[in-house]
Amino acid sequence: MDLTTGTRERGNAGTRQATSVLSIPELDACVHCGLCLNHCPTYRVTSLEPESPRGRIHLVQAASQGRIEPNERFGEHIYLCLMCRACETACPAGVQYGRIAEAAREVLGPPGSPFARAVQMFAFRRLLPSLRRLRWVAVGLRLYQRSGLAVLVRPLLPRRLREMEAMLPQVPDRFFSPKAEVLPAIGPRRARVGVLSGCVMSVLFADVNEATVRVLRRNGCEVVIPNAQGCCGALNVHNGETVAAKAMARRNIDIFLGSGVDAVIVNAAGCGATMKEYGHLLHDDPAYKEKAEQFGRLTKDAAEFLAELGVVPPQGRVDLTVTYQDPCHLAHGQRVRTQPRILLASIPGLRLVEMDGSDRCCGSAGIYNITHPEMSQTVLSEKMRMVDHTGAQAVVAPNPGCMLQLRFGGKKFGPNVPVYHLMDLLDKAYGNAGTGERGNEETI
Ligand code: SF4
Ligand code: SF4
Repeated sequence: MDLTTGTRERGNAGTRQATSVLSIPELDACVHCGLCLNHCPTYRVTSLEPESPRGRIHLVQAASQGRIEPNERFGEHIYLCLMCRACETACPAGVQYGRIAEAAREVLGPPGSPFARAVQMFAFRRLLPSLRRLRWVAVGLRLYQRSGLAVLVRPLLPRRLREMEAMLPQVPDRFFSPKAEVLPAIGPRRARVGVLSGCVMSVLFADVNEATVRVLRRNGCEVVIPNAQGCCGALNVHNGETVAAKAMARRNIDIFLGSGVDAVIVNAAGCGATMKEYGHLLHDDPAYKEKAEQFGRLTKDAAEFLAELGVVPPQGRVDLTVTYQDPCHLAHGQRVRTQPRILLASIPGLRLVEMDGSDRCCGSAGIYNITHPEMSQTVLSEKMRMVDHTGAQAVVAPNPGCMLQLRFGGKKFGPNVPVYHLMDLLDKAYGNAGTGERGNEETI
């Protein structure tokens, strides 16, 4: 395996594929100062250099120069990383650690046993690119959870599987299925925006997607939700699978650029960070490089967009004391920190209590809570301790992975408070105004 050229044996078709992955200048940007170490969740837990950003960069450098074998142990260090990118915020040299880690993972492929790797590749290449298949899996899971089968099966599972099963979210009654592809603005039109439905968001958080669309419309946006759009590919990219990810990116680029929108709005931080970086993902595709960069510039987190547009102040109250969890891929990946707080401050009755380490990872990190449950829960228990210190009645976390993780953490470690998406609260505030406009119960 050659990390400098990224050439490796790819197993699924038995063919050898060349992947341009590692950028040596990116690696060389690290001056090994160590200022990132104490910002790294895995280093804070282990105090081990190979579980720090600097240590991992050293390892990738050594492997790219042929000084060490990128073997299983190497892969364990690379995959124990949460990909939270807190090290990028801390780094004075501007090292883009996320790109280094993604490149290393692309060379390594998904982690785990051959069976675990096969399951992940199936999910990345067959399930995520097809919302129809994903929904069928969710229907099966819902049946398992509601039929009583889960109660019968759970005690028979081995401990590790039982723990993983306990982390599965409850599949709701309905999926996100908007009635029309284009929904008009409420009041004078200020913008025409596309909305990414998402894979996890459309299956597990239809209510949040609906709230996001209502909030955008109340802010004068004509909303376009193309039926043919798909998953953004973020989970693929973060786990070393770029073949399907590139195809997923091209599909969304074609669909949204063809819809004449002023912005593509995302309400999931991990998706937004990946979509903003489609230009990097497709940098070696001459047909898509420029379109991908244009798409990246159009992509906006919902809070970022509304703060830039100038949010219409909600008239209804939400009497609640909340604390805010900065999703890693919003705070570190997109540098969006003040805009969500501006929106929270616009809600009458709502009080924000800041949490120590609000931009520290909650341990969700895509599928990390399933692949690395011990580290994930160690990080989560610390996060819940910080939530507890605030005394807040609820947590706001505008990202599906964080919402699921914090809900699980509340049940396991306490405090068991509700976890809202920011769009939920804005939607409630507009709906509570009693203006006679369509309320926030309206199904989109
Ligand atoms: S990644 Fe940045 S902060 Fe960390 S050791 Fe390298 S230069 Fe220093
Ligand atoms: S991305 Fe997060 S877990 Fe990974 S090295 Fe950087 S700070 Fe540590």
